[in-house]
Amino acid sequence: MREPPISPIPLTRLAPSPTGALHLGNAFSFLINWAIARKLSWNIILRIEDLDVSRVHEGMIEDCLNTLKWLGIDWDGQPILQSSDMNRFHTGMQALAKARRVYPCDLSHKQIQEALNAPQLGDQPDAAGYEAIRPDPIPDRFDNPETSWRFIPDDNPIRFHDHNMGPQAFSKTDLGEDFIVWTKRQAPSYQLAVVIDDHASGINRVVRGRDLIDSTPRQLMLYRALGFTPEPEYTHLPLILSPDGRRLAKRDLDTHIGSYSALGGPERVIGLIAHWVGITPEPTPMSTSEFLDTFDPHTLPKNDIVFREEDAQWLRS
Ligand code: GLU
Repeated sequence: MREPPISPIPLTRLAPSPTGALHLGNAFSFLINWAIARKLSWNIILRIEDLDVSRVHEGMIEDCLNTLKWLGIDWDGQPILQSSDMNRFHTGMQALAKARRVYPCDLSHKQIQEALNAPQLGDQPDAAGYEAIRPDPIPDRFDNPETSWRFIPDDNPIRFHDHNMGPQAFSKTDLGEDFIVWTKRQAPSYQLAVVIDDHASGINRVVRGRDLIDSTPRQLMLYRALGFTPEPEYTHLPLILSPDGRRLAKRDLDTHIGSYSALGGPERVIGLIAHWVGITPEPTPMSTSEFLDTFDPHTLPKNDIVFREEDAQWLRS
């Protein structure tokens, strides 16, 4: 496959999925990713993850760009649309097939769990169980893009050092069943698309929410199976939770950035994020450039943060 451009300086990416309006949790991750990059003189690109065509509707990409600009976030070069070239994903799948690491499988998660627990396979899902699901022999060509394909994970645990969350280790059991790399929609799964695109752009720093930390071992396995180097360095950020302890979702209306941008400038949203990262003891309106001046990329919060009722009121006051 094509070698990535040599990137002598660190290069990161903002990778929004324009499948709904951006919320405060997205704003938090993107602002921190951007501020780390600007403080440490990394380059930063914007990649719009628009492969799930059933969920990306007209106007959503533009909304997403406008929200980032409203927050005062900028990036280097033109935004990249993930859907703009599908050939590279087919090439990646061919390489994985040649290495006999992928196989076609139209079983659902439930059917796999049932097959793994079938009496003739023993009570525990084990190597023999997985082998009963995988075809024998494993094909060496990616020739059936109409069905899902799964990846055969490494036997050894995957370890990496997270710059915020510390040392991480994931065993094969932690990762569960063989994960999907190609979907029935004839498109790569999130795991494969991220790896192919990060490598193609020469990304060597990834900063994102900790909800994706267990994607990292899967992505590192794909890097290794595809022979891609260098592997990125990872920083996972805490999540923003709603008052009842759930992770914020795009359906939580009070947290949509659009509902605040309609009220005026970003100073209150930025001020709340500044409070969350410990810059101020209480939320205080702040411009994006003041935030950048006072932000310390070496002292990031590790624990999840609760978006309180009073925060919602303060944002609207
Ligand atoms: N597009 C993903 C999201 O919005 C982020 C992908 C990534 O950072 O690896 O959650």
